Amino acid sequence: MGMSGEEQWADGESRMQELAALVQRETRSCSWWERHGVDWTILTLALSIAPAGFLLLGSDSLLPLSLGFLVLGIAHTVVSVKGSHLASHSSLSQSKSWNKVCGSFTAEKGTYHHVKLHHAYTNVIGLGDSSVWKVPFFPRYIYLFLLPLALPFLTPIVAIGLIQDLPVLTVIRTLSAITLGMWAHCWLLIRVSGFQSLPSAFLCMMLYKATFTIPYIHINIFQHIGLAMFSPTKKPKRIYQMAHGVLNLPRNMFFDWSFGHSFINCHVEHHLFPMLTDHMCLKVKPIVSKYFKQHNIPYNEDTYLSRLRLFIDKYEELMVYAPQLTELVGIQ
Ligand SMILES: [Zn+2]
Repeated sequence: MGMSGEEQWADGESRMQELAALVQRETRSCSWWERHGVDWTILTLALSIAPAGFLLLGSDSLLPLSLGFLVLGIAHTVVSVKGSHLASHSSLSQSKSWNKVCGSFTAEKGTYHHVKLHHAYTNVIGLGDSSVWKVPFFPRYIYLFLLPLALPFLTPIVAIGLIQDLPVLTVIRTLSAITLGMWAHCWLLIRVSGFQSLPSAFLCMMLYKATFTIPYIHINIFQHIGLAMFSPTKKPKRIYQMAHGVLNLPRNMFFDWSFGHSFINCHVEHHLFPMLTDHMCLKVKPIVSKYFKQHNIPYNEDTYLSRLRLFIDKYEELMVYAPQLTELVGIQ
């Protein structure tokens, strides 16, 4: 306390440098297996359990049928959430060209919104304020528990809407990727699982793609909305911006695997060091939380249920009305 505004900002910069040096020391001492191998293994495992999922869906009894659903739901979420998130941050590989190959499978506009807006302007009003997640004309229970199930239908429509002004080649590539992906799922459901018609296969695909969409929407809003929001002209230094505007949720076996640590229990670390893979975020978490505690920097943590209760109780305030701006004065 007692520092002038300028001194405080300079302090934020040196704190960030100090923390980055500590984190770098840890990451440099790690092997390729830790830096990339663990996450590649999870992605490969997810792809390799998919055939079992399609075979199980061919069964007539309830237990293998539900297991098949779960397997395909997990496999789809690991690849489409964890995989494309890592690819969007170019953290799948050390090689630039490999990252380009991986990155080209994610929608260009999605990457732009996530990396260039959400990460660069975390909780800055009008830029990275998570307002893309707000659909204020829906009542709370519909938004929180019903609308997420429509996400597999909505995602391609939104993607097509977003790519219209992009170069023709990008439009063609995105459209072919969407069509090819859907066709492959339906083909496998008909050939391997024995579905009789295309509409029934299509519906089944949409259902297992929706397995994790409710927590997916929840997590995206729980970790930023309701925390400090900044104006573009008065945003604090990065370390304070992330400390005040990002929240970590507790670990959970399903979320660890399907969404990845950077989405769940290491979201603060991910916003500070977006190039790190999920496993590396987990490795540096003790360093970051210890550093924050040592320097009296807030380290936001809350449970899933407590956030859910908050969003149900204060839905209007958090999801309908414009958020209040936060000005951090005199904090260090
Ligand atoms: Zn990210």
